[in-house]
Amino acid sequence: MKNFIGGEFVPTQDSFDNLNPATSQRLCEVPRSGAAEVDAAAKAALAAQPGWAALSVEDRATWLERIADAIEADLDAFAQLESRDQGKPVWLAKAVDIPRAVSNFRFFASAVRQHHDGVHRMPGALNYTARNPIGVVGLITPWNLPLYLLTWKLAPALAMGNAIVAKPSELTPCTADRLARLFQTIDAPAGIFNLVHGYGAECGQAMLEHPDIKAISFTGGTATGRVVARTAAPLFKKLSLELGGKNATVVFDDCDFEATVDGAVRAGFANQGEICLCGSRLLVQRGIADRFIPAFIERATHQKVGDPSAPDTRVGALNSTAHRDKVESYLKLASEEGGTVHGGGRPALDAPFSSGAFLNPAVVTGLAPTSRTSTEEIFGPVVTVHVFDTEEQAIAIANGTDYGLAASVWTQDLGTAHRVADALEVGMVWVNTWLLRDLRVPFGGVKHSGVGREGGHYSLEFFSESKNICIKM
Ligand code: NAD
Repeated sequence: MKNFIGGEFVPTQDSFDNLNPATSQRLCEVPRSGAAEVDAAAKAALAAQPGWAALSVEDRATWLERIADAIEADLDAFAQLESRDQGKPVWLAKAVDIPRAVSNFRFFASAVRQHHDGVHRMPGALNYTARNPIGVVGLITPWNLPLYLLTWKLAPALAMGNAIVAKPSELTPCTADRLARLFQTIDAPAGIFNLVHGYGAECGQAMLEHPDIKAISFTGGTATGRVVARTAAPLFKKLSLELGGKNATVVFDDCDFEATVDGAVRAGFANQGEICLCGSRLLVQRGIADRFIPAFIERATHQKVGDPSAPDTRVGALNSTAHRDKVESYLKLASEEGGTVHGGGRPALDAPFSSGAFLNPAVVTGLAPTSRTSTEEIFGPVVTVHVFDTEEQAIAIANGTDYGLAASVWTQDLGTAHRVADALEVGMVWVNTWLLRDLRVPFGGVKHSGVGREGGHYSLEFFSESKNICIKM
């Protein structure tokens, strides 16, 4: 693999191995970039940006659609690659990750065509607000939804006339590389999308510090988000931070029982529990707890774990053996904190998966809602379960963590749904569903889950600067 700078694939001196987490076999060698490579990418972006911004909105939107068409035509290969790089089931990448990358480009092509700015008349004067590109923007993304999250930022940033320096996670660089190849194949303007690979502390840090990169959109862990904010804020860079979560699934006595058990299992374990929005804390009202919790444990712990290319696999490999070890350490902690772990443990799989980063889904009961296991982000197939009596108790438990990304509420009572949704300290609430996404809505968290919103016009506004022009009549 090489960096993609100014429309060309450029080698680096150093590189490191990228493993397939399902087999621990070497998948590819990744360029190890630092300040010099980031500087070359920023210069290429700086040179390309004025020409790209000078295109009409229609022309830029048409380019986004061409990129969408090219990904769609290559969907199967993208999905296979995402699965081999990330560990997730192939069917999931085919059904969610790659189609969503296609939608990101199509959606923002349409959104930018519709986007308009304000006019404010006043006695004797007229204000109009112009919206200009920022220039060169940096995109830093995590390993859980590699292409999906990169394109969620790339499409609106390009739509608004910026040129990009992007760094995917060093653990999952493959589909970003394939996307760069598509840019070259369809002859997209050189330098508008530059891709530098490498470690966060070297390549990512150089992006944060580079004077020509004027904005950073970062998705990743809260601890890294703190470093990003600390470095970029004194340089007055525009910042969007989409960080970690510890989301509650709040189940009331009057829920639709079967649909809620299924919904809670999906929320807890989709993508091996490696989605920032996963419902990793299940709060169940006492009236149905005796029936609901065993049904949840039964369904959660009987999901098929293993070969990511098998169509009936529900839980693939975790992203790395190091991450699997971290998740396992939380199961040990859960026992030490007085919890009972149902499931968990490493599955016995045949070669080549016997060396993969697999872990059976685990449900932990009997923990205090304030325990570390119940309040810290684990980011794996682990859900803690807590029982509550009243609405107020449920809200207090749900809000009793530093995170504030998302929650789901399961009830047939619209009053309960409204009251609880209103009281939850999060950026997004689903009622009787989870992860139902409309790309126009604001996406982001409060508290330690982030700063700012992306999605629809929120993204278009983040990736641009407004300028008001007041004309005296
Ligand atoms: P991470 O913070 O370790 O890494 C994210 C990215 O930041 C990677 O590309 C990494 O190389 C880079 N990075 C690391 N150190 C850096 C530094 N000093 N300067 C610049 N860049 C640096 O996160 P991860 O482990 O890849 O992803 C998992 C985390 O992402 C979880 O906490 C999850 O909740 C979060 N996440 C949040 C959202 C959201 O939308 N809120 C979505 C997906 C994942």
